[in-house]
Amino acid sequence: MSTRWIFTVAEMMSFVTEVRSQTKTLALVPTMGALHEGHLSLVRQARIQCDVVVVSIFVNPAQFGPTEDFARYPRNPEKDFELLESAKVHAVLAPPVEEVFPAGFSTFVDPGHIATVWEGAQRPGHFRGVATVVLRLFNIVRPDIAFFGQKDFQQVVIIRRLVEDLNLPVRVVVCPVVREADGLARSSRNVYLSAEDRRAAALLSRSLKRAEGLAQSGEAGAEKLLAEMRKMFAAEPRLQLDYAAIVDPATLEPVTHALPGSVALVAARLGKVRLIDNLIFGPPGSSPEMKLQLALTAPQPDRESPATPRPEIDSLRLKIENCRDCAALSSISLPAREFLFKYLKRDYPNLDVIRVLVIGGCAPMGPSDSPYRHPEQPNPFSTRLYELLGVRDFAEFKASFALTDAARCHAVGNRVEERTLEYCARHLREELKLFPNVQTIVILGEYAYLQFQRHILGRERTSIKAFPELLKAEGWAQESVQLPCYGERDVRLLYCYHPTFENKRSPSVAAYLSSKP
Ligand code: AMP
Repeated sequence: MSTRWIFTVAEMMSFVTEVRSQTKTLALVPTMGALHEGHLSLVRQARIQCDVVVVSIFVNPAQFGPTEDFARYPRNPEKDFELLESAKVHAVLAPPVEEVFPAGFSTFVDPGHIATVWEGAQRPGHFRGVATVVLRLFNIVRPDIAFFGQKDFQQVVIIRRLVEDLNLPVRVVVCPVVREADGLARSSRNVYLSAEDRRAAALLSRSLKRAEGLAQSGEAGAEKLLAEMRKMFAAEPRLQLDYAAIVDPATLEPVTHALPGSVALVAARLGKVRLIDNLIFGPPGSSPEMKLQLALTAPQPDRESPATPRPEIDSLRLKIENCRDCAALSSISLPAREFLFKYLKRDYPNLDVIRVLVIGGCAPMGPSDSPYRHPEQPNPFSTRLYELLGVRDFAEFKASFALTDAARCHAVGNRVEERTLEYCARHLREELKLFPNVQTIVILGEYAYLQFQRHILGRERTSIKAFPELLKAEGWAQESVQLPCYGERDVRLLYCYHPTFENKRSPSVAAYLSSKP
């Protein structure tokens, strides 16, 4: 496979049309070139999660201020191309400025307040330029997943807001910061640093590590941690600190205490070179991926009602967090994890009462999609689910039902891959054990059906009836099975259309839920 080098928007759009016609999944990795290991980590992740990978290289004038380094920003197209070819990228979009901003271009995206703090305060207009070009790239490439680096944490927050606020049909995946051996975050701008500046630059990550160490040893007061960081900068005359802050990962507002998921941001100047870095606080020993998920999906513990200790839930949650086999790090939402961490503890003081487990298709794409998030305001999915199960509202629902998903963090839109179902089935198998008195499992939609047949019941692909055929006559189907985790007793499986994914609807199965199989 050779990498295609594309310079025009028109050619890129026809490439995308071709890919789409083959129903392949598409990844976009937006960059400004001068590529290094940080960029390549995003490309590798994209290769794992999608069939086709497009990398864009565009030094975006709209995100540089008039006195900034647009003209002298490092550019190295030949080396970039070599790197991307060996990384087996399918296409590189490297448009000239006039392709992205043709004459007459006048529409810009204003990300609001969040773009005016920290980097936004230092670089007015920067995030307006970023958001505008990213939206334009999304519309040109129409990726299923776009990959961004935690290195630019504020950018991540702004892009995630952009996607949510404008309902963009793209999933945002965030990858951890790639660092040099001494901790310095990899950055295209590091090439500007003299040998002495390069040595001093490691202070950014050292100061963050120091704050993390203090927090892990019990000193969580943000002011104390920041004072310690500032002291370290004061002792290094080559570095001028622009800001150090400990913030809430969603709002970027300063917090009083560094809690798991809080983020320390730092920016400093070495002569004309500006460097930024950040660190997500997490429990000792937590992986970078787990910290990212804490910051991007977890509610902050101090805003939560105190959770009942549930060790069995906690240990399953850890397994899901550490699921690395699928190499999926989708941070848009991880409902399985949230479900276990928050809702299972909040809504089910006694898991023994659950008689019916419902398995939905893939992880909800947006925060409003899960009935557990806003129990008082049913969404289309929960309304139809309640009709299907014959319950009036969330209170009735949670009295005997629990809901989980077939595919977790890495499902892509409406297309769920076989390997995704296989990986996620391991978590589902574990989850089933949490509900020892389940009598009925309601399986919603084709993917959940295929997963259950193949990876829970262990049936051969050739012996599995096609889902439309199975449901054709009644709009639903049932069978009794024995599952290893429940010993010899029978469990009834009810197969229904997914309430919102499919065009067809199943009739209510309420009558079959109360009796034993
Ligand atoms: P840039 O070319 O600097 O605009 O970066 C392109 C993408 O690569 C952005 O999503 C960055 O956050 C990401 N990136 C840059 N440096 C790193 C790094 N050291 N580790 C992880 N991602 C990075």
